[in-house]
Amino acid sequence: MTTEQNVLFTIFGGTGDLAKRKLYPSLYRLYKKGIIKEQFAVIGTARREWTDDHYREIIIETIKDLIVSEEDAIEFASHFYYQSHNVNDSEHYVSLKVLAEKLEARYHIKGNRLHYLAMSPDFFGTITQQLNEQGLVSDTGFNRLIIEKPFGHDYETANILNEQIREVFDENQIFRIDHYLGKEMVQNISTVRFANNMIESMWNNRYIDNIQITLSEALGVEERGGYYDKSGALRDMVQNHILQVVSLLAMEPPAKLSDIDIRNEKIKALRAVRVFTPEEVKENFVRAQYDVGSNDDILLNKYQNELNVAEDSLTETFVAGKILIDTFRWKGVPFYIRTGKRLSEKGTQINIVFKNVPLNLFSEDAEEKLPSNVLTIFIQPTEGISLQINTKKTGIDLETETFDLMHQHSAETLANSPEAYEKLIFDCLNGDATNFTHWDEVASSWRFVDAIRKVWDQDKTNLPSYPSGSMGPAESDALLAKDGFYWYWNPISPDENEKK
Ligand code: NAD
Repeated sequence: MTTEQNVLFTIFGGTGDLAKRKLYPSLYRLYKKGIIKEQFAVIGTARREWTDDHYREIIIETIKDLIVSEEDAIEFASHFYYQSHNVNDSEHYVSLKVLAEKLEARYHIKGNRLHYLAMSPDFFGTITQQLNEQGLVSDTGFNRLIIEKPFGHDYETANILNEQIREVFDENQIFRIDHYLGKEMVQNISTVRFANNMIESMWNNRYIDNIQITLSEALGVEERGGYYDKSGALRDMVQNHILQVVSLLAMEPPAKLSDIDIRNEKIKALRAVRVFTPEEVKENFVRAQYDVGSNDDILLNKYQNELNVAEDSLTETFVAGKILIDTFRWKGVPFYIRTGKRLSEKGTQINIVFKNVPLNLFSEDAEEKLPSNVLTIFIQPTEGISLQINTKKTGIDLETETFDLMHQHSAETLANSPEAYEKLIFDCLNGDATNFTHWDEVASSWRFVDAIRKVWDQDKTNLPSYPSGSMGPAESDALLAKDGFYWYWNPISPDENEKK
């Protein structure tokens, strides 16, 4: 749909990193596609004292790699206005309201307001309350709120935050960002499942042995040590991105592809995730911290020596775990997940490992296992899908060999595909919440994560470590080995199809 949307964006945190790196370029891309054109305006607010002119210079700087002509960039930037603002000061909301009304009249915007909170979640409650009290929620048109992660620190804080926001906005006006849901291949999960009878008919515990999700980062904490040391991999990655991917893999087919139907199925899937007892946590989850090591011959230091990280920090930079989903479909199928920093390479992939054929006709030992069929969904940076199958090796003997049927999005497709933030803002403009997390999803995810966190927080012994540049600690491999499995990573060619 490319009809023009008339809308007033107010971006709280308009001078911040997210706004500059993601939001402004995404708005420009939507502008180039005609989704926002003439009847839109953007108010950027933050503490700094900037003029409109300076703000527009910054906007043009942030889109410099995308612009088609200087005039075009200037015309786009002319829709941007800056308002210096301290979110704790109610006076400032009064000025903001005056500006909002002026711009709505100038650009013929019919009360459609998109409030984007691109700043620390500590301020979300205050901002939404003030938007309401100072009359910034319009009576005409739509009012939508986009909020960034993290949504709370645990269930309790998330619930308090949610109640504050829900005093002003209804659930269907709240768009909680999980940018993973804007990724092309995450959105493709439902298509791969529900547009292919061959796949969906086997998508259950009769045919699938286990499912593996790896979200691997090559970088360490870099400058984010202060934030990360209070968060850790479990909160930073598992509570949101990984559990969202789990819900898309595990959900039942929705009646329709509407946001309500899809989110209902995701909510049901997340509710069925077993919340572990302390004993089960110890059995099914491992954590670790990166130690010194090397990658591409570059020496890397250990986590505890990173900037703004406590020397005796017990924060995990790696998590591996087994998730169990108590439904008819998934009973007995473990979902193994792992994520970590400073691993050997950056990449996110899902490996669906199918059960073996009942008998091996190709070996003298009928019990000898053939390589499993593995369906891999490559999320990033490679985007694609592969299927590992066994075939006859060319020659007079009857031997098997394993191939991968691989489709990888071309460089051209990747270059032209929309950014996650562009797609998510587009969806929000259309009132489509499919790719945003509902409160019930957030709540279930926190309940699962909190049970693990509680056990770990009570254990003050040192964490296992793994060398920087490896794929994690031995404990992660042992977790699968005790079930008779191993991690798959890049099962692209038979040669590489080995335990990693
Ligand atoms: P940032 O620190 O770069 O920017 C924060 C913004 O908030 C700045 O514009 C600052 O001026 C403003 N601000 C701070 N205190 C204020 C106050 N009292 N009154 C008015 N304005 C105030 O942060 P960021 O990296 O842009 O992140 C913003 C949000 O987005 C956070 O919730 C973060 O977790 C989330 N997020 C960021 C990224 C990213 O790539 N940067 C990715 C995912 C999520």
